[in-house]
Amino acid sequence: MGKRGSGSLSPEGFAFEESWAEKKRRAEEIVRILKEVYPRERHVSGEPYRTLIKCIISQRNRDEVTDRVAEELFRKYPTINDIANASVEKMQEFLRSLKVGLWRSKGRWIVEVSRIILERYDGRVPDTLEELMKLPGIGRKCANIVLAYGFGKPAIPVDTHVNRVSKRLGLAPLEASPEKVEEYLKVLIPKEEWLYVNHAMVDHGKKVCRPIKPKCNECPVRNLCPKVGIKFGT
Ligand code: SF4
Repeated sequence: MGKRGSGSLSPEGFAFEESWAEKKRRAEEIVRILKEVYPRERHVSGEPYRTLIKCIISQRNRDEVTDRVAEELFRKYPTINDIANASVEKMQEFLRSLKVGLWRSKGRWIVEVSRIILERYDGRVPDTLEELMKLPGIGRKCANIVLAYGFGKPAIPVDTHVNRVSKRLGLAPLEASPEKVEEYLKVLIPKEEWLYVNHAMVDHGKKVCRPIKPKCNECPVRNLCPKVGIKFGT
């Protein structure tokens, strides 16, 4: 990057030289292409509570396991009241029987979160990052997922795929924490596109820009990627 970054973001740590304006243009083009290649049919559920519970279940679980467990959980406990009235032990046992990792913590969080939402928020999931992150078991990534996929608000959840893909594409410094990666992406990408970034980068990270042996030859943004298509500085 050039001499200046943006606000408090440091220009250090990128693998190549590029002006901030160039980086922004490149980021916008990358998002435009990824959106086309991985179209985002309506992923906003409009169900923030279910999105939140699903996010707790998903921690360190595969997507297929999460989907199956969430489906069974909402069949057994269809409403927030049903979950809030369940005992923590019963919820833990339920998760354990479905072989969910971290079942002890997740069982407690699921019941506690439901009770808190009923008692403190009148049964409505809070819709700000700050309030969401006060809930047990909800970190920054989950809070952003609830905002993006539950409420349809502009947010960029940074998971392992978004983290890796952003860094390979030179949109965040290699050593940046997920929180910093989120900050860089929010400065580089126009707000109206934030909602698409997680989905597009997750799909891209699973199918093409995989952790090991990324398929750079088939990559739709290879011409915009410093790893392959473009060379910057020395
Ligand atoms: S060119 Fe390779 S490293 Fe760059 S985004 Fe595509 S798959 Fe990832």
